[in-house]
Amino acid sequence: MTDISTGLIHHPYLPPQGFEAPQPAVHKASTVFFPNVAALHSRDWKHKTGYTYGLHGTPTTFLLEERLATLEGGRHCLLVPSGLAAIATVSLSLLKSGDEVLLPDNAYGPNKALVQGELRAYGISHRLYDAMDTADLAAKLSDRTALVWLEAPGSVTMEFPDLPALVRLCRARGVRCALDNTWGAGLAFNPFELDADGLAVDVSVHALTKYPSGGGDVLMGSIVSRDPALHMRLNMTHMRLGLGVGANDAEALLRSLPSLPLRYAAHDAAARGLARWLAGRDEIAGVLHPALPGAPGHAHWKALCGTRDRAAGLFSVVFDARHTRERVHAFCDALRLFRIGYSWGGPISLVVPYDIGEMRDPAVTRWPHAGMLVRFSIGLEAAQDLRVDLEQALATLALAV
Ligand SMILES: *Cc1c(COP(=O)(O)O)cnc(C)c1O
Repeated sequence: MTDISTGLIHHPYLPPQGFEAPQPAVHKASTVFFPNVAALHSRDWKHKTGYTYGLHGTPTTFLLEERLATLEGGRHCLLVPSGLAAIATVSLSLLKSGDEVLLPDNAYGPNKALVQGELRAYGISHRLYDAMDTADLAAKLSDRTALVWLEAPGSVTMEFPDLPALVRLCRARGVRCALDNTWGAGLAFNPFELDADGLAVDVSVHALTKYPSGGGDVLMGSIVSRDPALHMRLNMTHMRLGLGVGANDAEALLRSLPSLPLRYAAHDAAARGLARWLAGRDEIAGVLHPALPGAPGHAHWKALCGTRDRAAGLFSVVFDARHTRERVHAFCDALRLFRIGYSWGGPISLVVPYDIGEMRDPAVTRWPHAGMLVRFSIGLEAAQDLRVDLEQALATLALAV
């Protein structure tokens, strides 16, 4: 089998007769014409045997879906207007009143907000589990559990769980599990082949907003699955909610996908170098990057991703507790190349300071650090320039002590 980087470039595509070119065509439509009423009645949007309406897909979105399914190791793909919409679609599709959904305590924040907001109002309860403690998930699974969310690593604090063990547990208890695979991006590991026996999550969602876009200028999400019945259930919810994506955004994604593996590798290499360098600074109490020995869950990362040796360009640092919140905010303000901003995966490096104490449920996971946390997303600038920038901003901390 060819490498995914080759697969994303040489992906089958049927160009218009006599017009073969590097990029596929971009098709835009709300209305699609039918040659006659018989065609109107015979075309089936559900199984994509024909085009019926813009919301049900165009040649451009079908092609993007196929490439994303290939990337993630799945068979079916649905496109939605954001990564968060992908999470919401899965939860709304698979949960009903009376059910319970389990989330890791270090889950992507807006996923927690959704269970605490709309899902609670719809009579769907939730519990948070400690992703680093498989026994905690085992204890919290019940007859009412209809879905388990997984993330590897956790958002912001970057703990890498024993993902195969968590998935195996869900399988053994007959509970569906959905992975937020934004960090792995389909490159760090295959969520549908987590071990040699083909251990798989049921659904993989991906914020294409991040690495697949790579530009910091597109919002989109994907929902990838393998099981046809499960896909059809998600597909019906997707249709009933009226979720569609714009052709120009789909085009931007198709343009970016061929360079995804190269960009991911570049973000990764620069991030690991900077993370190691920061680990040696005395302003820093700890560096949270799953590929760094000593980081939480490093052994799990190594077991799952060690062969490919891939990681996203994302890490967090915990400052020594003597650096107050105000000083760490001033450090962020002093950065020149790094910009202050949410999201990640684009060319420009970003930082966000977080108050982790406010983001965790102390009854589920105890955050062990006293110092401030700053999350870094490493862009595509030369790592040496980023290091110089970090150095000058760290110098402002020294003046303050
Ligand atoms: C950014 C992100 C999302 C949401 O993506 P949007 O397109 O911004 O809605 C979901 N999960 C994770 C882990 C993310 O980092």
